[in-house]
Amino acid sequence: MEARELLYEGKAKKLFATADPDRLLQFFKDDATAFNAKKRGTIVDKGILNNAISEVFFRLLENAGVPTHFVRRLDDRHMLVKRLEIVPVEMVVRNVIAGSLAKRLGLEEGRPLPEPIVEFFYKSDPLDDPMINEWHVRVLKMATQAEIDRMVELTLRTNAVLQPFLAERGIVLVDMKLEFGRFHGEIVLGDEICPDTCRFWDSSSGEKMDKDRFRRDLGKVEEAYQEIARRVGA
Ligand code: 5GP
Repeated sequence: MEARELLYEGKAKKLFATADPDRLLQFFKDDATAFNAKKRGTIVDKGILNNAISEVFFRLLENAGVPTHFVRRLDDRHMLVKRLEIVPVEMVVRNVIAGSLAKRLGLEEGRPLPEPIVEFFYKSDPLDDPMINEWHVRVLKMATQAEIDRMVELTLRTNAVLQPFLAERGIVLVDMKLEFGRFHGEIVLGDEICPDTCRFWDSSSGEKMDKDRFRRDLGKVEEAYQEIARRVGA
């Protein structure tokens, strides 16, 4: 499938049109940003690893009945995906207290939650992705109530599929960010699922194996992404 015009360039990916109006090419870059692009860098081969890791997760989810935009991986850095109309909401699901939840509520990182927490953030760079709730999403017409319910259901199902898969491979799924869109009227999981968008901690050492190594200058960033790819069989 040949790439046509560049439709969108984000911090980690580029999206190209194809000859098929229902299909896009997702290109995975090595660029890394954090804190709304105030910190910038490169993680060598990150795009290749995230493309391969995302493929593993999308296939697993499709088999478990979660509709995703994944069609197939074309090469090292390109994934063929369905063209979605993106809902401008980031869905975060958490199993362990970390990151902005720890900060917002003054809690210590690392405590497992008795059940998952789902949060909504408005996808907006100028506003720094502020936290919102279902009411904002519905009343401001980012999605209908039925779509919100479906996004929550699919977010929890995605978590319920990935958490045990990762646990078997010695990885704690601490939290992750998911994005959804509409494909011919149906809510479908989009974007990517990888160490850029999830927190992964090693089950025995507690060591971080995700983008927090870059965000927090912990070193061995590439090694962590490679180890996640190896453990999930990417
Ligand atoms: P937090 O709200 O604690 O910063 O993030 C929760 C989870 O969602 C983490 O796994 C984090 O990587 C992911 N996440 C939240 N917002 C973003 C974002 O804008 N970009 C990326 N790549 N991940 C995000």
